[in-house]
Amino acid sequence: MNKNAKEVSRRSLLAEGIRSFSLLCVGGFAGGMMGRSQSQRYCWQIDPHKCVMCGICATHCVLEESAVKCVQAYAMCGYCKLCTGFFDPSPQALNTGAENQLCPTGAIVRTFIEDPYYEYKIDENLCTGCGKCVKWCKAFGNGSFYLQVRHDRCLNCNECSIAIACPSEAFQRVPYDEPYLLKGTTSKG
Ligand code: SF4
Ligand code: SF4
Ligand code: SF4
Repeated sequence: MNKNAKEVSRRSLLAEGIRSFSLLCVGGFAGGMMGRSQSQRYCWQIDPHKCVMCGICATHCVLEESAVKCVQAYAMCGYCKLCTGFFDPSPQALNTGAENQLCPTGAIVRTFIEDPYYEYKIDENLCTGCGKCVKWCKAFGNGSFYLQVRHDRCLNCNECSIAIACPSEAFQRVPYDEPYLLKGTTSKG
């Protein structure tokens, strides 16, 4: 593949990634809100710039499986070969062996794109919202992994037990027509 073709294919990939997440947000939110009273004017949101990845999102949701999941800001991701959000800090090898992965549930899917690029996608059915990958991606990578309240799962409790315990006021009540604060779409990154 020549250089121009490579650039085009990578750009298409990025555009597709952004489109997928946008659709997921709109579709998920519409689905989650369907059947709920329109008088519920607010929903819960995580400000990824305030979140300190404390782990409470994984343990304090009233749902058995937390409504908080990790998402990937494809526009920010470096598609790094050595992703610090994916690999254990001391991996035995840079491959997808379970012993080399940071995620405790294997929820990050690593796919080879073209040398030296790899795509990292979250399998939300496996993600517990623990924030480990977010912490390490932010510390040594581009900070493209971040936590979000998934509105197709969240019960929109009046008093969210995560928000009560959140140490950094990252969990906030916002108008329901602005459900997601997306990274990679503002000047703050
Ligand atoms: S490390 Fe935690 S937050 Fe990241 S994908 Fe795995 S379960 Fe989800
Ligand atoms: S509002 Fe309720 S369901 Fe939603 S994240 Fe908080 S505790 Fe979980
Ligand atoms: S409780 Fe707050 S600081 Fe902790 S992971 Fe959740 S949003 Fe981030």
